[in-house]
Amino acid sequence: MNRSDVRRHLHLLRQSCGRKYISGPQGQHHNLDALFEELNLRFFHGLMGRPELGWSRTVSRRLLGHFDPSHNAIIISRVFDSPTVPRLALEYVMFHEMLHLQHPVDHSGARRCVHTRDFRAAEKQFPQLKEAKAILKTL
Ligand SMILES: [Zn+2]
Repeated sequence: MNRSDVRRHLHLLRQSCGRKYISGPQGQHHNLDALFEELNLRFFHGLMGRPELGWSRTVSRRLLGHFDPSHNAIIISRVFDSPTVPRLALEYVMFHEMLHLQHPVDHSGARRCVHTRDFRAAEKQFPQLKEAKAILKTL
């Protein structure tokens, strides 16, 4: 390898590390963009700006969803892209991640608090919270 080959190789390496894998919103059974807009109208007066939405690479039962502020992306576990999992569970997980967009992390205490009291109060707007959480336990 000469010098310019090395440089090019490093450049490609850097590019692939900086980029994030996002699958796109369309799954086998659900479209995350459509779901986001539906919940946006129901709970946020349609005012929330839509981030990147995608399905997780694997069918994760531990990490059901997460909001990644550095990529402005919500990633939902593929476990929900199934006809046998009630849509209510998917709606709840998306709603929860949308609240993370609205409620910044509280760094004021000794511990970083992601689910602040305000966050918990806002989450109670979801009408079938108990039913949804019960479904998550069965996954
Ligand atoms: Zn959370």
